[in-house]
Amino acid sequence: MKADHFDQQRLLALAAEDVALSQLAHRRRTLPELAAVEAAEQADRAFAADVVRAETEVKDLGREVRRMESDVETVRAREEKDQKLLDSGAVSPKEMTNLQHELETLKRRQSDLEDQELELMERLEVAENALAVAQSGLEQARADLERARQLRDDALADIADSTKRHESARAEVAAGIAAPLLSLYDRIRAQTGSTGAAMLKARQCQGCRIELYGNELSAVRNADPHEVVRCENCGRILVRTAESGL
Ligand SMILES: [Zn+2]
Repeated sequence: MKADHFDQQRLLALAAEDVALSQLAHRRRTLPELAAVEAAEQADRAFAADVVRAETEVKDLGREVRRMESDVETVRAREEKDQKLLDSGAVSPKEMTNLQHELETLKRRQSDLEDQELELMERLEVAENALAVAQSGLEQARADLERARQLRDDALADIADSTKRHESARAEVAAGIAAPLLSLYDRIRAQTGSTGAAMLKARQCQGCRIELYGNELSAVRNADPHEVVRCENCGRILVRTAESGL
């Protein structure tokens, strides 16, 4: 294939744009801000689960405390009733002994219940503290997540901006290259996954970094400037310049 020597030079500008574009695509895929958002989302989910757990515990303990209070109240009412009956003096000596005995039992029962209530209230306090810690952790995690998303969006917008600029620069360069040469370049680019042409610099293909020697070197050296020559190793169009060392 023959193509204007200057068109071949333009392939280097095209390749530079393709390198820039693939670097941008790589940056978008490996953006640390994406991992940061993921980590922040994980922390957010963990704290949200902590809050739910702590809320459930506070609710359960609160219910137990109220039940205990009502038990204590029942015992206290019974004590009061017995005490009144005793104080009224309107009971037989046998009943009096029974009532005194029952009162002692009720007092012990009340003291037990109050101990249990106290212990429950201590547990409730611990659970309430844990809930407060989880809630403030969640609040912080939400703020962190929001900030991480903002940073990610900024970075993505920045990449999209650069991509647009390089795409339009590439289109401009491509418009100045004859169609057959351009389509050959694009075919090779699809094969290499990066660029379709490389500079031959100091006898080395800058695409695959292999140095030309022997027959390949003399073939390139003797080729017409308008002849399209390709690297035998990577297949890229070798663009000859004053630095090619031929
Ligand atoms: Zn090569």
